[in-house]
Amino acid sequence: MNMITNHLPTAELQALDSAHHMHPFTAGAELARKGARIITRAKGVTLTDSDGNQILDAMAGLWCVNIGYGWDSIAEVAARQMRELPYYNTFFQTSHVPVIALSQKLAELAPGDLNHVFYASGGSDANDTNVRLVRHYWAAKGKPTKKTIISRMNAYHGSTMAGASLGGMTGMHAQGGLPIPDIVHIGQPDWYSEGGEMSPEEFGLMRARELEAKIAELGEDNVAAFIAEPIQGAGGVIIPPESYWPEIQKICDAHEILLIADEVICGFGRTGKMFGSLTYDIRPHIMTVAKGLSSGYAPIGASIVCDEVANTVGEAGDFNHGYTYSGHPVSCAVALENLRILEEKKMVENVASVTGPYLKERWEQLADHPLVGEAKIKGFMASLAMTPNKAARAPFEAPKGTVGLIARGHCFGGNLIMRHVGDRMIIAPPLILSRSDVDVLIERAVKALDLTLAEIKDKGLYK
Ligand SMILES: *Cc1c(COP(=O)(O)O)cnc(C)c1O
Repeated sequence: MNMITNHLPTAELQALDSAHHMHPFTAGAELARKGARIITRAKGVTLTDSDGNQILDAMAGLWCVNIGYGWDSIAEVAARQMRELPYYNTFFQTSHVPVIALSQKLAELAPGDLNHVFYASGGSDANDTNVRLVRHYWAAKGKPTKKTIISRMNAYHGSTMAGASLGGMTGMHAQGGLPIPDIVHIGQPDWYSEGGEMSPEEFGLMRARELEAKIAELGEDNVAAFIAEPIQGAGGVIIPPESYWPEIQKICDAHEILLIADEVICGFGRTGKMFGSLTYDIRPHIMTVAKGLSSGYAPIGASIVCDEVANTVGEAGDFNHGYTYSGHPVSCAVALENLRILEEKKMVENVASVTGPYLKERWEQLADHPLVGEAKIKGFMASLAMTPNKAARAPFEAPKGTVGLIARGHCFGGNLIMRHVGDRMIIAPPLILSRSDVDVLIERAVKALDLTLAEIKDKGLYK
């Protein structure tokens, strides 16, 4: 049977989709006028849509399909687990084999004494767990005033009430009464947009020291934790200056606060090591993981917690928190098989020393394009900042995101998935990307940039 044509015609699917399906982060009415692009299947790094187009997915879905699409063994593991034990909870002093095996595996992979895993269904609710966990920890230590969590502007930590509050997306805070109390934000280490005349290293130090200043302003007795992504993902792949993380770590070491590394994107190989914390020598008390944990084959997220926090909370009686699907057996089995494949096929090594260096070389050459002010990359996360004036790193006169959206359209049109964040273009491809995939990616990216430049010149947006 032909899998491409074995469904309703695209237009009918689009009409049904807009009639009954509310899309996340989307203007529904506008999408209804255009019709969604319908993805029907995927293999390796390539998506197929309902019209038979073959699209290179340089975003790995939503930064999550680390091992790539189409691994049969995962489907087999999931089917076997569904037959054996499709569901059981872990609330009332019960456990099961997949959750035990995955927890052991994560404790082995995670650095330092991050030996204890609390499960969620994704990254957002894992960060909700973290908010309650760190406050409960300090209360158990007899310091109930230590409640405030410091995060960063333009951070992304999910879309639940706590996740979006921890995040620093003003567009999200503007809807639904956010942020919730006792969450504050400091500046982000985005040198390109905010560094002005400073060197990247000076700017990185300055932004790190905002943490010190914020702790002083709030009083250390009131601060529970600092949370940050090693590299901001949804904020536009903001790769911090090299001076940033060592200074943050120093400040965290000097104060009695917990450090939470949100590894939802950086985890499981994306930066060229198993975790972003290893790439930047960060020593967190808690890591948030999701996305690459299962490569998106099943929903799962987790908080990986250090001995001190887990033991203290464990001694303090019931932790009144949990999700029906915490440690879901099918998701755990899928995650384990995903991690087995990631290791067996040496995908982290591919990022670090095989395809990674070649992607870096080719990506950085994109900075020569007249539209590109900066081309930055770490592992398999990369960004292009588009500008009408490279020397000044100037933004466009058109509202932020206008040019980005045009560029995304040309990428889509050329069968390349690149995302735009404002006027930055970003990629986070599957970790199995090969050299020849890189050639295709770069060729399509250049074509999209050329078409974008021509269109914005046409429209008078390039001056
Ligand atoms: C995607 C993301 C989340 C939220 O994860 P969900 O699975 O969408 O809930 C949290 N933190 C970071 C850094 C993310 O990129």
